[in-house]
Amino acid sequence: MMTEQPNDRLFMTTAIEEMKKSDAPIKVGVAIIVDGQIISSAFRTKGEHAERAAIRLAVERGANLKKAILYATLEPCVDLRPEQQVQCCADLIVSSGIKEVVIGRYDPNPNIYRQGWKRLRDGGVYLRDFHQDLREEIDEINSRFMGFFEKGIGPTGGAKVGHKDKGKFLVQFAEDDDRTMEIAWTVAGINAAYGYASRPVKVAMARFAKTFDEVDDPTAYEFRNSVRIEVGEIGIFKGPEACVLVKPKQIESGQKYGNTDYFVSFDYQVRITKHR
Ligand SMILES: [Zn+2]
Repeated sequence: MMTEQPNDRLFMTTAIEEMKKSDAPIKVGVAIIVDGQIISSAFRTKGEHAERAAIRLAVERGANLKKAILYATLEPCVDLRPEQQVQCCADLIVSSGIKEVVIGRYDPNPNIYRQGWKRLRDGGVYLRDFHQDLREEIDEINSRFMGFFEKGIGPTGGAKVGHKDKGKFLVQFAEDDDRTMEIAWTVAGINAAYGYASRPVKVAMARFAKTFDEVDDPTAYEFRNSVRIEVGEIGIFKGPEACVLVKPKQIESGQKYGNTDYFVSFDYQVRITKHR
């Protein structure tokens, strides 16, 4: 059984209040506590992760981090690429000597999920979770982010994918048909995205079509490995057993969302071509 701090809830709430100030696409807040006192708090900006900013502030204030507890609304990050230049937050926390971390939310990105926790655990950090109702509040604030990694279920639906999951999205054909097809997006400038397909899936543009209804036979088009699709246009991913029609509704990237951040929001419709 994990030990609660006397002011645990206050410290969790402090991290959430910081999170609300964040202007990054994925909002994160952090509070660092030493001897029951809030020593520093920070939120994620486009330039710096909240953990790094809060640790920097605590060090500037002369805090003894060996006695510190760090409250973070999101699981601290790990480095996913060997060429990453900035030390990831999980390693930074371990090397700073922080003894305990309380996590608001595990990263829903399947590439990161629980890896931050493991890195900290392996580094000898004691770990706890936020209260459940506060975790729900965090999810609410980051609802767009939390929706990124869901699998969609056909025959129709809407979804939003982002750079954190490399723009990938998995469509299950229907509630009672568990066959799936993966599609992927990358941003191609203002209000446009590339639909990407990897074998055996191919992708086409239903040029001039404005609605899914205007597509009669979805296999009748010119299929390639990638096509550029603008907001309002219709694209078609064709797999061996189904086609997934897509219509981007909103595409954002660039300065406003940081250099690598983007998201594509789209509607989709599954047309099964090979029944079981
Ligand atoms: Zn980080």
